[in-house]
Amino acid sequence: MLENKVGIIFGVANKRSIAWACAQAAAANGAKMAFTYQGERLKENVEELAGTLEDSLVIPCDVTDQATVDAAFDAVAAKYGRLDFVIHSIAFAPKEALEGEFVTTTREAFRTALEISAFSLTQVALAASPLMTEGGSIVTMTYYGAEKVVPSYNVMGVAKAALEASTRYLAADLGKNNIRVNAISAGPINTLSARGVKNMGSLLGHVGEKAPLKRNVTQAEVGNTALFLVSDLSSGITGETIYVDCGYNIMGI
Ligand code: NAP
Repeated sequence: MLENKVGIIFGVANKRSIAWACAQAAAANGAKMAFTYQGERLKENVEELAGTLEDSLVIPCDVTDQATVDAAFDAVAAKYGRLDFVIHSIAFAPKEALEGEFVTTTREAFRTALEISAFSLTQVALAASPLMTEGGSIVTMTYYGAEKVVPSYNVMGVAKAALEASTRYLAADLGKNNIRVNAISAGPINTLSARGVKNMGSLLGHVGEKAPLKRNVTQAEVGNTALFLVSDLSSGITGETIYVDCGYNIMGI
């Protein structure tokens, strides 16, 4: 399905990362991929995972440092010559902003969360688009806390709302180049980042009980949806937020 396609994956921290599940689904269908990591402490993890895939590339990239973003795309251009898809699967907010009341969010926490979790999609789309000479697909990860209040999700919910709006604006801008931009709204999954949200355990329990499918979603299910979105099977879909949450979002109570 993705033979001869080249991707770049932002957000693999370890084997539980949603980004890694997306990469595995893409690799199983023939894609070649570059992987970025943030900070030396993740380098070994990412190198080990990426090393299990053929013709992969591992590049440092911290989205708060524009030079590293530019260098990452330069490295992709040098190795593969072009790009077909991007998986943007990164988010961050200071821990203290992910507990207590939203009203106490500091200016600094707000700025950091919005910069890393929302602005980075625009930053990456701008850098990726010149390499997408045959069209392309950009996929980001969002969460239901963008549209409804989820206790403790706080400023990350505001960042995800900006991310979903950015998805639509980017889709409108880049559609003329046959570049599609979509978001996956994943149900809660126990990953490294998720553990930073207070009461994640009870959130998983609640969603697993209330969702129509009576369980939580898996990374692999999100990965398979990302595969669909980066493949030509979804060629008519752009600017959308697609729920992969065992149906939780359709419930009233
Ligand atoms: P994860 O494995 O911890 O992945 C998050 C990634 O973001 C990490 O690789 C992290 O690197 C990276 N990151 C943070 N700050 C960065 C920066 N400045 N520059 C570059 N990368 C940076 O957790 P995940 O759950 O798979 O999260 C992936 C995405 O899915 C996030 O956007 C998250 O909000 C979204 N999502 C998650 C869930 C869930 O329940 N897990 C549900 C819906 C949506 P570091 O570890 O170095 O910070």
